[in-house]
Amino acid sequence: MGVFENIISLNEKLPKHVKLIAVSKFHSVDRINEAYRAGARFFGESRMQELIEKKNKLPADIRWHFIGHLQRNKVREVVSLADTIESVDSERLLSEILKQSDSLKKRVRCFLQIHISNEDTKYGFSYEECEAILKKYISANSEYCCIGGLMGMASNTDDMQEVRKEFGRLKEFYEYIKETYFKTDDDFSDLSMGMSGDYTIAIEEGSTMVRLGSIIFGNREY
Ligand SMILES: *Cc1c(COP(=O)(O)O)cnc(C)c1O
Repeated sequence: MGVFENIISLNEKLPKHVKLIAVSKFHSVDRINEAYRAGARFFGESRMQELIEKKNKLPADIRWHFIGHLQRNKVREVVSLADTIESVDSERLLSEILKQSDSLKKRVRCFLQIHISNEDTKYGFSYEECEAILKKYISANSEYCCIGGLMGMASNTDDMQEVRKEFGRLKEFYEYIKETYFKTDDDFSDLSMGMSGDYTIAIEEGSTMVRLGSIIFGNREY
C-alpha cells in the first residue's frame, strides 16, 4: 500500500478522539503531499533545517509538530515555524520558548516530554522534575506560549507488558497533573504517546495523539 492508502486506513481505524501526527522526518515533499491529499494535516519533524525546507514547499494549512531534541539557539526559528513543540525536555528550553514566542508574538503549544522508558538514551523529565517545572511556570501565564500536554516514548522492546505499564503510568500522571494544575485550563488537553510499533497499546492506555512515521511512509533512509 502507498502513503495515500495508509492515511485513509489509519483515519478509519483510529478512534475519533485520537489525533494523527504523520511523522515525515527523512521523507520527501512528494510523499508528504501524498499524505496531505489523503487528508493528513498534522506533520511531525525532528530537525529544524528539514522543517524549514519542507514548510516552504508545502501547503500553508499544515500544522507542524516539532518532535526532536531542540537546542536553544534554534528555538526562535522553530517557534516561528511550528504549531506545537512536543519535545520540551528542560527548564532552560521552556524558558527560551516563552521568551521567543513573546518576542515574536507567535503562538506555540508546548508538551513536556517525560522520560518513561527504562533506557537512558532518551531525553525527558522525570515525573518529579516535570511537576516541579509546572509548579514554577504555571503562573507565568504567557499570552503566546501554553503548555498543551505531555509526551512520552516507551521502551523500544518486544515486551509489550512493559510498554503497557509505561504508558499506563504516564496516563495516570497526566490525569493527576490535569486535575491538579489545569482543571480550568482547556489548553492542557493532549497526551502524545504511541509510535508505529506501539500505538494500539498507547491508545488502549489513554493516548490522545499518536506520532506515526514508518507505518505511513515506510522505513527511513538516514
Ligand atoms: C521518529 C519519531 C516517531 C515516529 O516513529 P515511527 O516508529 O516511525 O512511527 C515518533 N515520535 C518521535 C519523537 C520520533 O522521533
